[in-house]
Amino acid sequence: MDILDAKKATVLIIDDSPVNIRLLGDALKAEYKVIIAKNRKEALDRAFSQLPDLIFLDIETPEISGYEVFAKLKEDPRTKEIPIIVITAMSDGLYEKACLELGAIDFIKKPFNPRLVKLRVHNHIELKMLRDYYKDMSCIDELTKLPNRRKLKDFMGFEWARLGRSNAHLSVIMIDIDHFKQFNDNYGHLAGDECLKQIAEALHKANIRSKDLLARFGGEEFIFVLPDTDRVGAMTVGEKLCSVIAALNIPHEFSAVSDHVTISLGAASITGHSELSSPDELIAAADKNLYRAKSKGRNQLVG
Ligand code: GH3
Ligand code: MG
Ligand code: MG
Ligand code: MG
Repeated sequence: MDILDAKKATVLIIDDSPVNIRLLGDALKAEYKVIIAKNRKEALDRAFSQLPDLIFLDIETPEISGYEVFAKLKEDPRTKEIPIIVITAMSDGLYEKACLELGAIDFIKKPFNPRLVKLRVHNHIELKMLRDYYKDMSCIDELTKLPNRRKLKDFMGFEWARLGRSNAHLSVIMIDIDHFKQFNDNYGHLAGDECLKQIAEALHKANIRSKDLLARFGGEEFIFVLPDTDRVGAMTVGEKLCSVIAALNIPHEFSAVSDHVTISLGAASITGHSELSSPDELIAAADKNLYRAKSKGRNQLVG
């Protein structure tokens, strides 16, 4: 399958027994990138930093406290979707039931047949890749190829949780193309689409740091989410975006503001959760400033 070929999958083996690690590793290393964790700390570090596609967890080792690792992986948004196969020497049916109920994708008893394990892993990885593919697709805007509202919601939820823990800064910038209806009405919808693509690309290129998110918010509206950025930082980014779009110099004879396409921007920032109670309130604050930018004459940033 193409989707499967696109990326070599990573399998994390969490086990403190060198014999098991070798048996599993030998069965899988030709097809997958195999990483190993021999204790609790390594297990969580590797899972969070490498985001493997499949995890083998030996649950009853003295070094690992498998249940705790299991619970941590299942409660963290970064790792909760990663399939976990539990490996155990316990042959009790109740135990198997408990693991599957906890959310394990599969349960393998020792001693195991490496060939059969390999086949099961292949099936699980294929399904994981397929899930990832559809998840990615459902988060991308078809026209501009930027992340869409759904992705924005996930990202904001994640950043919001981090903000509560760390008291860091978070800024958002709402962007709206000026007099875009006039552009469409006069140049046609296809030219409008082309313009949206160009603007999206230019905004994307201006995206200074990899941890920022640029998404298409709606029709001719975009949003930047800037983690660890205070108001001063957001204003600097906003000014830059404004000039990047001006420099594209896309002709717009029917704009009341300029002879080329311009944008208006509204920024808002918070530190920790401060006075706001949800990510939507931060977006609403930026939207309010965008509205001010429009009423002050467009082609400008208000923050
Ligand atoms: P303002 O300066 O106040 O923002 O005026 P505006 O004309 O940009 O705002 P308005 O909300 O009245 O119009 C937005 C227009 O954007 C409406 C529609 O013609 C256009 N639009 C929205 N989505 C798309 C799209 O996907 N493709 C194209 N071509 N045009 C779109
Ligand atoms: Mg063991
Ligand atoms: Mg609009
Ligand atoms: Mg507009």
